[in-house]
Amino acid sequence: MRSDMITHYILKKIHHYYINKYFSWLMSEQYRSDTYAVYEILECRAKVQFTRALPFTIASNMVQPSSIVGMLLHEGFSVIFEDECRDNRVFSKSIVVDDREYTINGWPDYYDGTRVIELKFTTHVVREPDQRHVKQVRMYMWLTGAKEGYLLYITPRRVHEFKVREPMTDEEVADLVRNWTSPRDPAECTQCMFRNICPYCKAGVPEYKQTEARVEA
Ligand code: SF4
Repeated sequence: MRSDMITHYILKKIHHYYINKYFSWLMSEQYRSDTYAVYEILECRAKVQFTRALPFTIASNMVQPSSIVGMLLHEGFSVIFEDECRDNRVFSKSIVVDDREYTINGWPDYYDGTRVIELKFTTHVVREPDQRHVKQVRMYMWLTGAKEGYLLYITPRRVHEFKVREPMTDEEVADLVRNWTSPRDPAECTQCMFRNICPYCKAGVPEYKQTEARVEA
């Protein structure tokens, strides 16, 4: 009897599916420097540049079991709510910032013509919504014209629902594009895979120990 690991097969299939569905545009370099996804606009500018230059690094984030659970949860969610979100697709909207036109693309987890719902899976205790996630829902509301927005956190023990009141305004979106810093928040650097090569990293770099540098003759 063969004893090949089935894990390789399963994960390869999941990763191919997910990358083809959500990141093929990145892999084929079919993107422009004035076109961004919502999730890109909300994260560190340098990280977006690194990811666009090194698109296969996306896959390395997907081997964590919590990421796998998150991916499967999202796909299950989209299948279950397929009818309600029949017109769900990639939404695009343009905005002019300092005489340059930018296109913002986004694909909310759920949009039924009225409501946007963004699903998050986390193993952490949720006491209040992450402000970056709130901005994401507000930006989807701006993009789609949705009247209501919700953040739904699924954790192993609880489900938390937060209502998001207002869409982002054109001025707020323009401000995010205009003042796009690296990082947006120093906390981003602690989990960032590029922290050891990034000149803008705000996370402490571990001290170099002399013993590690010793070369045996
Ligand atoms: S290390 Fe920090 S500044 Fe550099 S890419 Fe990552 S998040 Fe951005």
